[in-house]
Amino acid sequence: MEDCIFCKIIKGEIPSEKIYENERVLAFLDIAPVNIGHTLVIPKEHYANIFETPEETLTEMLKVTKKVGIAIKTQMRADGVNININNDSAAGQIVFHSHIHIIPRLKDDGFSMWYGKRPYDDGEMSIVANKIIAGL
Ligand code: AMP
Ligand code: ZN
Repeated sequence: MEDCIFCKIIKGEIPSEKIYENERVLAFLDIAPVNIGHTLVIPKEHYANIFETPEETLTEMLKVTKKVGIAIKTQMRADGVNININNDSAAGQIVFHSHIHIIPRLKDDGFSMWYGKRPYDDGEMSIVANKIIAGL
């Protein structure tokens, strides 16, 4: 896709710090890391988000995420790793080319993705579950 920054990285028109690539997938360092070593895994074909990405490509992205995630955890001496996907702007997606974030985490690094968690009201949980199930 012409105006897509990640497509430009794949074509080599924009530089990137490459970590791993195969026929279908590329992993490279995020330019503005949450923690040092924060890496993005993207398909070489353009898909806007995870829902538009074909299953075989998603499988390949996850395989690469696991491989690179293990290397990041070991080499960056991370205490933990978040694997995160943002879909649509309301969920924080800025680049509309499907991607998985691999974020090395350190104890007490202060980063939190889970603001605003709350318990369900009485009876609310089964209503919500049934609503989602109706869309499967
Ligand atoms: P998201 O908010 O999930 O769309 O994440 C997009 C990510 O792409 C952000 O974390 C950016 O820092 C990262 N990013 C944007 N441009 C570049 C670039 N040229 N090279 C590497 N990472 C980038
Ligand atoms: Zn793209």
